[in-house]
This record gives sequence, structure tokens and C-alpha cells, in this order.
Amino acid sequence: MPLDRLGRPLRDLRISVTDRCNFRCTYCMPREIFGRDFEFLRREDLLTFEEITRLTQLFAHLGVEKIRLTGGEPLLRRDLESLVEMLAHVKGIRDLTITTNGSLLTREKARALKDAGLHRISISLDSLDDDVFRAMNDVNFPVQRVLDAIDAANEAGLWPIKIDMVVKRGVNEKSIVEMARRFRGTGHIVRFIEYMDVGTTNGWRMEDVVPSREVVERIGREWPVEPAHPNYFGEVAERWKYRDGEGEFGVISSVTQPFCGSCTRARLTADGQLYLCLFATEGHDLRQGLRHRASDEEILDAIRVAWRGRDDRYSEIRSSETAGLAKVEMSRIGG
Ligand code: SAM
Ligand code: SF4
Ligand code: SF4
Repeated sequence: MPLDRLGRPLRDLRISVTDRCNFRCTYCMPREIFGRDFEFLRREDLLTFEEITRLTQLFAHLGVEKIRLTGGEPLLRRDLESLVEMLAHVKGIRDLTITTNGSLLTREKARALKDAGLHRISISLDSLDDDVFRAMNDVNFPVQRVLDAIDAANEAGLWPIKIDMVVKRGVNEKSIVEMARRFRGTGHIVRFIEYMDVGTTNGWRMEDVVPSREVVERIGREWPVEPAHPNYFGEVAERWKYRDGEGEFGVISSVTQPFCGSCTRARLTADGQLYLCLFATEGHDLRQGLRHRASDEEILDAIRVAWRGRDDRYSEIRSSETAGLAKVEMSRIGG
């Protein structure tokens, strides 16, 4: 089991299954950049389900226990439940989840994913205010359909459902308490995510970040809250419990309280590039080996060498000097 240069093991793999999306969230795929002329990956560039499964087996061999399917919008990939079924059988994988914007999550799809072996799901939702939500997804998508998707996931038993909200100053701050109110007592866990400087196209500014401390304070003013213990080492969300027993919420503070020291995550793009940090500028090509008949041992070696050389800790060293780096886009590397 390889350790990186900062002594961190490899435990989680986020797999992007497509770089395309049917939303144009302003903080992720601004439509001025991701417009008609944008060149997305071609079909033949994408790893097949068999290739993804083979890599997952090899990663599991190196200690990966958690797999998250993401994108772009993962449910745009046709027949995703077949991939889920293949991955659910990989020995060593304890946790298999998807992050989705919910737009394509019908009752049938949620049921098919659950039956295929999906353990849990995270659904992104930035506001309960329909106007604010439509403006943020920038494709005029109504909030009610995401709420329906959450119900569908609930009925299918994909618990606990995580509901991820990126908080942007002056845009959806008002939704913080509304989201907490709506999902308190439901068993679903809202996670408030600090807006991050991923990629180079979203025009990120520190002033647009709402620090998690402030999120906790705002919610704490409505209902008394207290910190809860992490579920496991390296958990990205800091957990908070409502003292009246109505459940919990989380905050993900990658900007104001970085957690690189315990970061055990690698990311695989839809075309088989391995990235060792969300803010990396370059990946390691694994598709080449897959398509040129490399042996398992050769691919394992390539992953080991990459991981052993890893010294990424971008969030801890974020500064004016790192601001100009040509970082990979979120929609490509997967959130
Ligand atoms: N399309 C799916 C979705 O939205 O859930 C999966 C991919 S998306 C890139 C994964 C997560 O990253 C989403 O919860 C999204 O809100 C979050 N995200 C995207 N850009 C972000 C940014 N600049 N800062 C913080 N979170 C971001
Ligand atoms: Fe699409 Fe998800 Fe990015 Fe929004 S955050 S544009 S839904 S990939
Ligand atoms: Fe991990 Fe990179 Fe994020 Fe730090 S900045 S927590 S190393 S992905």
C-alpha cells in the first residue's frame, strides 16, 4: 500500500464518467466558456465501463475502499447502472456513491442504481429559492425537480442522502438557513461547501467565499448546535449536530480550514488521466497503458510511482502565487 511523500495512503478514488453536463452552474461551467464551441471529450476518448472496472480493481488492490462516480453530470452517461453493478462486485470497495445534480434522477433510475449496488448518493442543490436556483444552474432548471429527485433517492433507500450546497457570497447566502430548516429532521444531511478556486474559468475571488464559521453561526442562531466527532479519518466535512436531536449538517471548509494533511483522494478523468489533487495542473495518463495491453503489474506500478511522488497540498499553500496556475477544470476532474 503506497504512501505519498507526506505519508498519506490512497483510500478514495473519484471517477469522472463524463466531462459533459446539462447545467451551466456559474461557479463550475460558466456558459461564456462552456458554450457551443467548447470541445468536450469524444466518445472514443472515454474509458469504457470495462476499463473503469479494471482500474478500480487495481486501485482497490492498492488500498482504495471508496469510489465516487462524478463528472460533469454522471447520469448523462448512458446505462450508468451497469457500471455501478460492475463496481459493486469489486473486492475491497466498501463505499460506492454518486454525486449528481439530480436532474435525471427519476424514481426508476434511483431504483435501478440501488438495485445495481449503489450504496449512497449526494445530490447538489444550491438554493430552495426557485429564482436563485435557476440563475445558479443557468439553464433555468426548476428547484422542484431536484426536490423530486431527493424524494426518489429516499424512496429507493439510498441513505443517508447528502445534499451539497456551494455557498457564494451575495448569491445564495439567504438559502443557508432555509436549507437547514427544510432538511432538519429528515435524516438527509446538508453539506455547505465553501466556494473554491477550482480551474481557471469561474472568476473566483476570496470575497465571494462565505467561511464555514459563518454558516455554522447563522444556523446556530436558529437552533443550538454542537460539533460531532468525525465518522472516519480524513472525512472532508466537519459534522455539526442539532442539540434538539433533529439530525446533523456538515461544512466543507477547503478554503478557510484546509484538510490536505489527511487527504487520501485521487481523481480519474473520463479519459483516464489520474490527478492527485483537485487543483493539479497535470495528470498521469493511465489510458495509454490500458489500451496498449499493459499488464496489471505495469499499471499498478504506474499508479504506485505517481502516488509515491505526490506532495500536493494546494489548499494549504493557496496564495497569490498559486492563483495563476493553469489548473484543471472541475467538470473535467470531477468534484
Ligand atoms: N454534476 C454533478 C453535481 O453537480 O453534483 C457532479 C459533478 S460537480 C463538479 C460535483 C460538486 O462540485 C457539486 O456539488 C458542485 O456544486 C461542486 N462544485 C463545482 N464547482 C465548485 C466550486 N468552484 N467550488 C466548490 N464546489 C464546487
Ligand atoms: Fe454541472 Fe455539477 Fe458543474 Fe453544475 S456543478 S455545472 S451540475 S458538473
Ligand atoms: Fe487534497 Fe489537494 Fe484538496 Fe489538499 S487541495 S485536500 S491535497 S485535493
